[in-house]
Amino acid sequence: MKRWKMAGLLLAAVAAAGLLWGCGTKKASLTAYDKQYLEYFDTITSVTIYAESQEQFDRWEELLQEKLEYYHRLFDIYNTYDGMNNVKTINDQAGLSPVKVDRELLELLELSVKEYEETDGAFDVAMGSVLSIWHDYREAASENGRAAVPAQEELLTAAEHMDINRMVIDRQASTVYLEDPDMSLDVGAVAKGYAGKRLGEILRQEGVTSALISLGGNVVTIGTKADGEPWRVGVQNPDTSAARPYVHVVDLTDMCLVTSGTYQRYYEVDGVRYHHIINPETLMPWDEYQSVTILTPDSAVADALSTAVFNMELEKGMALIESLDNTEALWILADGSERESSGFQKYMEE
Ligand code: ADP
Ligand code: MG
Repeated sequence: MKRWKMAGLLLAAVAAAGLLWGCGTKKASLTAYDKQYLEYFDTITSVTIYAESQEQFDRWEELLQEKLEYYHRLFDIYNTYDGMNNVKTINDQAGLSPVKVDRELLELLELSVKEYEETDGAFDVAMGSVLSIWHDYREAASENGRAAVPAQEELLTAAEHMDINRMVIDRQASTVYLEDPDMSLDVGAVAKGYAGKRLGEILRQEGVTSALISLGGNVVTIGTKADGEPWRVGVQNPDTSAARPYVHVVDLTDMCLVTSGTYQRYYEVDGVRYHHIINPETLMPWDEYQSVTILTPDSAVADALSTAVFNMELEKGMALIESLDNTEALWILADGSERESSGFQKYMEE
């Protein structure tokens, strides 16, 4: 199945990054403990937490896993779960009725509207109708080898149903309603980032002072490592067959790193690669870049921005990043050359 193929691909990246995180270091009575999960968000999640004892780590880890499972279910667009209204429930009720949802799903959608506006629509959670077509073609290619490109007409018809203004959020009632029965939400571009942000907040509240969480490469850091050194995180090489697994190493303290790349999920038709980040204007994967990496303290914002900036002309994306406080970006262009925002360099190792 696709999940395992992709998990295999990601494993190399995670293992490579793991080396950099310096597992097992002991200093100031804190020890680094690691854990990996394969069952959430269709990717690999790994955590490193510095704790005083195995028992303390186990308590934190239990809470972390419980929350991880909760967010995984809450943001699922393919399955429903007993006793919970999630994104699929909202989609299933499109044109029928408002759906009462937990505060955190409301918050994710509110943030998504804000990022839609800030990025001039380059990131759009209301693109479900179009994204599901690409998803089905990608699945067909991997499951029965029927690799084809969706017809322009099919995409254009679906695109008539992606108006984010028809998603009605009622804060007071804590409900979400999709007015257009043929529209649907896809939160794939922000769910991992938002979950990472919340997990970071929860661990901090529990007393964690030093940790790194990676949800399929969406990296959240808490503090420094126990020895006071920043966390060292690799920016993945888009050329996954290259000997070097990462193109740069960045130093992060209370910062997040999120990358959107063409190498993460794709299929091929006649030697042409069709990846999973879809430009809302062309309705097609856009081939300007191989990857866009964002550094910013809020991982939900980082995730939304990585997808949005991937869909923007370089000049426009650069202007957006430069206008935002505490936010940097690295672009790896289709030809392999790189561009970076003015402050990116200060995070890079020599
Ligand atoms: P990944 O999930 O691989 O880390 P992204 O954060 O860029 O990468 O999210 C890509 C996913 O987001 C796609 O699989 C799809 O579900 C969704 N998506 C694709 N294009 C867009 C877009 N322009 N706006 C919002 N969501 C998108
Ligand atoms: Mg994203």
